[in-house]
Amino acid sequence: MPANFKAELVACFGQPVAENPTGPMQEAAFQALGLNWRYLTVEVSPDCLRDAVLGLRAFGMRGANFTIPHKVAVLEYLDEISPAASIIGAVNTVRREGRRLLGDNTDGKGFLRALRVDAGMDPAGKRILVLGAGGAARAIVTELALAGAADLLVVNRSPARGERMVADLASKTGARISFEPWRGPYPVPADRDVLVNATSIGMHPDIDSIPPIDLRAASARLLVCDAVVNPPETRLLQAARKQGLPCLDGLSMLVYQGVIGFELWTGRQAPEAVMRAALRKALNPD
Ligand code: NDP
Repeated sequence: MPANFKAELVACFGQPVAENPTGPMQEAAFQALGLNWRYLTVEVSPDCLRDAVLGLRAFGMRGANFTIPHKVAVLEYLDEISPAASIIGAVNTVRREGRRLLGDNTDGKGFLRALRVDAGMDPAGKRILVLGAGGAARAIVTELALAGAADLLVVNRSPARGERMVADLASKTGARISFEPWRGPYPVPADRDVLVNATSIGMHPDIDSIPPIDLRAASARLLVCDAVVNPPETRLLQAARKQGLPCLDGLSMLVYQGVIGFELWTGRQAPEAVMRAALRKALNPD
């Protein structure tokens, strides 16, 4: 066989991006499957986004992740956007097919896969409470709505942002989604099957913070999920475990996002266990 020293390239474009742990997870997966692929973590400022996308094409890269602050701005440079990403209004994963760049959003898809695989729960017919109305909440609520959740209740500190998101997603998905403002400790209603913290409360460096909620009336089977990845074991999950509630951490969501991206780019089945171990190590190197 003739020598082939050309690596296939994918990247993460963001700013700031240095602490994004996706690189080591994808590199470990490429290595495990013996693929000569590289995942580059690249700092791209907003005024260079167009050039970065042109570079992606020029280098014949297989695709890329787009993270803060590019998830919305990148839309105008893409040739096609998945139905869910159009509803969400943001793209975090791009795949190149020939000259065409196809955009998708794996934030909510990663959560759904974690819910199904790691927590063994099918969201269809479930009653779900989501804390937050930022980018992660929007992606999670969209995918839960498309997956047939029976009732979605969103609680957010800024009422205007929460109301806007709920009205928009309810009209685009046709799902039953309602909003309540978050004032003081929010009593989690007894009828909820799942609670998702999609706020940044509890995220490094603010690791001692916990979302102001009251779990006393919650169902004994309530599945408590946290989107926060760093640290994976947040104060919220610690409190829920203490109460005997089942839990799902944000690490699972991020692993499955990586798995979905890997499969989109390479067409190969992702080595999930390898990716999970690499991500855990990247987040906690000691
Ligand atoms: P955004 O900045 O878009 O949204 C932040 C949300 O948190 C808003 O709803 C905001 O409310 C709320 N919030 C922040 N601080 C407080 C507070 N003190 N009290 C009440 N509400 C608060 O962030 P993202 O949606 O992008 O990210 C949210 C979290 O999800 C982060 O921890 C992020 O790391 C994580 N994430 C995890 C992923 C994974 O794969 N596991 C993927 C993507 C994100 P308000 O509107 O009132 O400001």
